[in-house]
Amino acid sequence: MTARIIDGKLIAEEIRKEIAAETAELREKHGIVPGLVTILVGQNPASVSYVTAKSKTSKEMGFHSVQESVPEETSEEQLLALVAKYNEDPRIHGILVQLPLPRHIREERVLYAIRPEKDVDAFHPVNVGKLMIGNADFLPCTPAGIQELLIRSGATIEGAEVVVVGRSNIVGKPIANMLLQKAKGANATVTVCHTKTRDMAAHTRRADILIVAAGAPKAVTAEMVKDGAYVIDVGVNRIGMTDKGKPKLCGDVDFEGVKEKAAAITPVPGGVGPMTITMLMRNTLKAAKLRVSR
Ligand code: NAP
Repeated sequence: MTARIIDGKLIAEEIRKEIAAETAELREKHGIVPGLVTILVGQNPASVSYVTAKSKTSKEMGFHSVQESVPEETSEEQLLALVAKYNEDPRIHGILVQLPLPRHIREERVLYAIRPEKDVDAFHPVNVGKLMIGNADFLPCTPAGIQELLIRSGATIEGAEVVVVGRSNIVGKPIANMLLQKAKGANATVTVCHTKTRDMAAHTRRADILIVAAGAPKAVTAEMVKDGAYVIDVGVNRIGMTDKGKPKLCGDVDFEGVKEKAAAITPVPGGVGPMTITMLMRNTLKAAKLRVSR
């Protein structure tokens, strides 16, 4: 079997059109324009490019978009004051602080200072807790993108054996939690593997849906995958440079081998990546809509 390629760029584009249309409707009916502020501390090149992309996409959606860039030497108190300012700003519905922060700033203190109703990254403990009990306002962006890719590419999630490789707070744990909820697009039986898992292949070979977020290049090979599985590769690993001087990327899955066994697979790049920013836009729109309904 040669797998169908799940085109994350195409699916993300489809969802962005839906978000732009709903944004226009919200503005016409209620006079509300979703507002997103991105806060960047320092000039880490990867962070600059992420923040620029988030800001650009939010403008394309028709949002009120604010980009705050502050110097590397900004103190924790100064950053907290900036967050407090946007907590109070009625034109802003979503606050995104780009990670990682410089070492002298405690990430937790800053992230936990964002009001939960403006926490469009869904990292605040209130939002993490709401996700856990099946009552989320916002889903964290990468896991939300994974779930959406599965739904829109026709995977049967209900009753499926799902195996997640990786247990980070931003990908592994939340996607495992989301897919085991008693809800549409979920209701799966979920196993989570990590570096202390004994015989990982015994688990991955059972998976109807295999989600790999390990940050380990080609950690999952063809013999670890069941025939006909859906494989979602979250990993982004830099493995050198292209002739044009751009970073060469590969996923956590041996794409060439696994695509001969799986029913469907995401490529790297062009799979999960494009979905993450799109889900940030969806969360910002939701935050604005919640302002109307609450
Ligand atoms: P992380 O915080 O480093 O967590 C990696 C997890 O994978 C850990 O739980 C670790 O286990 C487990 N792991 C590592 N190597 C393993 C192996 N060989 N076998 C089994 N488990 C293994 O990483 P993350 O933040 O979740 O990110 C994972 C990958 O996804 C990275 O490549 C990252 O760049 C990518 N990512 C992509 C997006 C996107 O938008 N496309 C977003 C977020 C992350 P232990 O807990 O035992 O250490």
